[in-house]
Amino acid sequence: MSTRIDIEGQRFGKLKVLSFYKTKNTHAIWNVICDCGKKFMTSCNNLKRKNTTSCQSCGQKTHGLSKTSYHRKWENLRSNHKNNTCSEWYNFVTFKNDTYNTFKEGYRIKRKDINKIYSKENCYWNCRLGKNDYFQVKFE
Ligand SMILES: [Zn+2]
Repeated sequence: MSTRIDIEGQRFGKLKVLSFYKTKNTHAIWNVICDCGKKFMTSCNNLKRKNTTSCQSCGQKTHGLSKTSYHRKWENLRSNHKNNTCSEWYNFVTFKNDTYNTFKEGYRIKRKDINKIYSKENCYWNCRLGKNDYFQVKFE
């Protein structure tokens, strides 16, 4: 018998935990409902670490960047380099905390070592000034 933390009925941000769904790769997955009424599933870990505190559309409203080129960079990173991105950056808010301060329009995210994953430690912004003319901006 595995011991499962019972979080039924608990609240995490905008989310209320409805019921246990199943265990997947040792992670307990729960049915939750957002204040807006949207139901979905997320892991107990995500809730406890506050990675997930609302449904996706409510989350995007709060950070206010959902239609920007910056947000699209994150979406592209997630879809094109899904297995090559650090798990912290699966969460947009964490990605934003790490990189948004130094971002300017036109910057592209690059890896220092292409054999390593996309992460705060291994990435920088790359800005193209002209043909073969680039400069690098470190995250702060
Ligand atoms: Zn919502």
